[in-house]
Amino acid sequence: METLLMIKYGELTTKKANRKTFISILQKNIEQMLKEENVEIISDRVRMYIKGENLSEIEKKLKKVFGLHSIVFCYKVNTNVEEIKNQISFLLKKEMGKTFKIITKRADKTFPIPSMEFSRQMGAYILKNFDLKVDVHHPEIPITIEIRKEGTFLYTKENPGIGGYPVGIQGKGLLMLSGGIDSPVAGYLALKRGVSVEGIYFESPPHTSLEAKNKVIKLANILNEYSGHFRLHVVPFTKLQEEIYKKVPSDYMITIMRRMMYRICERYAKKNHFKILINGESIGQVASQTLDSMLVINHVVNLPVVRPVACFDKLEIIDLANKIGTYETSILPFEDCCTIFVPKHPVIHPELNKCEEYEKNFDFEPLIEECIEHIEVITDLKPKTYEDIL
Ligand code: ATP
Ligand code: MG
Repeated sequence: METLLMIKYGELTTKKANRKTFISILQKNIEQMLKEENVEIISDRVRMYIKGENLSEIEKKLKKVFGLHSIVFCYKVNTNVEEIKNQISFLLKKEMGKTFKIITKRADKTFPIPSMEFSRQMGAYILKNFDLKVDVHHPEIPITIEIRKEGTFLYTKENPGIGGYPVGIQGKGLLMLSGGIDSPVAGYLALKRGVSVEGIYFESPPHTSLEAKNKVIKLANILNEYSGHFRLHVVPFTKLQEEIYKKVPSDYMITIMRRMMYRICERYAKKNHFKILINGESIGQVASQTLDSMLVINHVVNLPVVRPVACFDKLEIIDLANKIGTYETSILPFEDCCTIFVPKHPVIHPELNKCEEYEKNFDFEPLIEECIEHIEVITDLKPKTYEDIL
């Protein structure tokens, strides 16, 4: 007898043509997530099996891997009626409950007894040896017996995985990651759809602090628990931002600043093979997120901009932030480059011609190029000290 984790794949089973790619990316992601554990991973078309020493620790990590429908703690025995019976007895000794049901799945058709008949035989064995009753609708102990070529697998509980697609099957996306509540949630949702997400953060030292940057690094690190490949690209935005504040009327400052951010993101994305931009904008949440604002801000780019939380209420976003573990970090009170120099009355319905007119007030092109040239890529997502940045 062997104990192991059996993984049932998520949505990917419907994508027949790509099944092989899906499974191989999923396996690589799992290997990456479990790199500190001593494990053996075997996969086939329908299942993956993980053997290792610390299965409950491994299961905890697997709960953050996208592409898993469920994670099943199971026992493997030889396909032999006596061994199966012994294993059922062993299993039932550990279970609480008064009712049971046997579910047999005979994937290996060389096993001579049909599924229904085998369930009936095992049921009869249990009724004879244990003080339990059959309940086919709501059994307290559902016992699944999967008979496969490689052996027979028995289990009683199936724990849900987090679903989604394996990270990486969709190519790369660049997430505008601020220290707020919304953008980490947006990043999580994009990861869930299989996008290989990396973050881009605009900082304006000395107006924004090292603590603010460390907060974003911490958020990136939490997202990395779902990715394994998360990197953070930090844009030195001070000069360009200061120019905006000198040259643009205050009500349009935020709009122009966001147009500059979008331009930088797009150019950097194209250079580095990111296919989409992702951000945490939510319709109507603030002045820069009205439909009119989105229209004039979006106007400067032609890469798709995905806004996973666009139609979520703030409370729904907070709920998700709590579930994924980013909320406590997001609410730490450090300023963001969007929150410094905030004008009293930002325009709610900006006009494109005015944006273009104000942008003629200064030569922003070289400043944009300078920002891109000096982007810092952080792969080691640990907090920085003042010595690190000197
Ligand atoms: P969040 O809670 O994610 O900070 P928000 O409600 O505060 O969002 P804004 O500050 O208007 O909204 O920002 C909207 C989106 O723009 C953010 O969700 C994020 O994707 C992006 N963004 C804002 N500030 C920055 C920044 N300093 N660096 C990178 N992206 C940013
Ligand atoms: Mg913000």
